[in-house]
Amino acid sequence: MEILYKSTRGEGTAVTASQAILKGLSEDGGLYVPENIPLLDKSLQELSEMEYKQIAYEVMKLYLTDFTEEELKNCIAKAYDEKFDTEAIAPLAEADGAYYLELFHGATIAFKDMALSILPHLMITSARKNKVTNKIVILTATSGDTGKAALAGFADVEGTGIIVFYPKDGVSPIQEKQMVTQKGANTLVVGIHGNFDDAQTGVKKLFSDKALAEEMAQKGYQFSSANSINIGRLVPQICYYVHAYATLLREEKIAAGEQINVVVPTGNFGNILAAYYAKNMGLPIGRLICASNDNKVLYDFFRTGIYDRNREFMLTSSPSMDILISSNLERMIYRIAGGDAQKNMELMTALSGEGKYEITEQMKANLEDFYGNFAAEAETAEEINRLYRTCGYVIDTHTAVASAVYRKYRKETGDDTKTVIASTASPFKFTRSVMNSIDTKYETMDDFALVDELSALAGLAVPKAIEEIRTAPVLHNRQCDVNEMKDVVKDFLKGDK
Ligand SMILES: *Cc1c(COP(=O)(O)O)cnc(C)c1O
Repeated sequence: MEILYKSTRGEGTAVTASQAILKGLSEDGGLYVPENIPLLDKSLQELSEMEYKQIAYEVMKLYLTDFTEEELKNCIAKAYDEKFDTEAIAPLAEADGAYYLELFHGATIAFKDMALSILPHLMITSARKNKVTNKIVILTATSGDTGKAALAGFADVEGTGIIVFYPKDGVSPIQEKQMVTQKGANTLVVGIHGNFDDAQTGVKKLFSDKALAEEMAQKGYQFSSANSINIGRLVPQICYYVHAYATLLREEKIAAGEQINVVVPTGNFGNILAAYYAKNMGLPIGRLICASNDNKVLYDFFRTGIYDRNREFMLTSSPSMDILISSNLERMIYRIAGGDAQKNMELMTALSGEGKYEITEQMKANLEDFYGNFAAEAETAEEINRLYRTCGYVIDTHTAVASAVYRKYRKETGDDTKTVIASTASPFKFTRSVMNSIDTKYETMDDFALVDELSALAGLAVPKAIEEIRTAPVLHNRQCDVNEMKDVVKDFLKGDK
């Protein structure tokens, strides 16, 4: 069955999957959503006998219906290869009674690799299918991890260019070093004077700037997005939830059909939305537990039905979740409004105007699968410390937010359903915060000395992604104000042939 994609803001006609991937964001500013969520057409038993790439195919073929089997299998084969340091691609680690789904075994050691190692291939295939001859320029706002994962994916990919905007003072030292050392003539990394929301809003503005789009088209360029607003990011993220369930079943940790809960450390609501899609495809998932850090706009939303971004933006030790405008929530709002684009538009207009909106009682009732909570900075640090002390398992700060929220959830509800916790980054990416949580004696050591300490303490080899940046030269040092982003883009494309 063919699946088409339409905008959450309702204007314009439905497009194919490849067109949606090429465009990223719809012209009316809405996000593309599938007209319906397809059901898995393989049994859980069959899935439990498959490896990651096979499962990825079984899931993605249901969404990317205008890709041929060969095209899709090709993209999958190129994405999930030796760039990952384990054949399982996304292994599960059992610690303290929960299953940590390690999504950080790819090239840049954060979960963004799960989708961004395939997105460039989906994009190029989509361009070919739609006979696009323009060069595709990826504009990306990053809270730290998407940037590097997208750069790694698109660097030196013919027919593409990539520009990444990150908050200059809002990412971890290792995250920044990873980005500014990026090679590739088609790459540009820019630190903006502002926070992630400023970067994201700035990029969305560039996308909806029709005059700019025309000017660029004349020069042979068109923009697309590597952010999780692109359905080419969302769909590959569904696969690892199916794979996690299949793995638990194969290893006889659960019975076929047994429900599991899923906990996701959340920022832009992309990862947890993928879990929600998996549930709606028929995967036996019970609660979707949404974990926030001190920027707990989502926790407040689930509690009150009011989304309110009018609050102080906090810089935390889990910077990839330092977000007040959760883009993908729009897809959820549209859905719980029963696919009412008008209603969604109304709420999104309120959000960009007053910074706030309230959903109806009926919409709130449609959110019953979700549970939201948050972990403050001290709780996050304590969770890293506790898990290390009790199990010897070291988790990063984002995963620790999820793990701490999971403990709160269990205490509050007594629900002991088997649980998968999305482990979204390697502890090596946030070494300083991780090590300071374990012992204050590490405070005076430099970043790379800490890497070696962590390696010894956790009994883990230093990931290649970290070894590479130890001595790598800085290649990007551009900074700009938020209102200069457009000029930066034009400037970069001017020098490019
Ligand atoms: C991006 C990111 C998140 C948040 O994921 P969303 O899909 O934006 O909700 C959490 N943890 C890490 C390490 C990330 O990089």
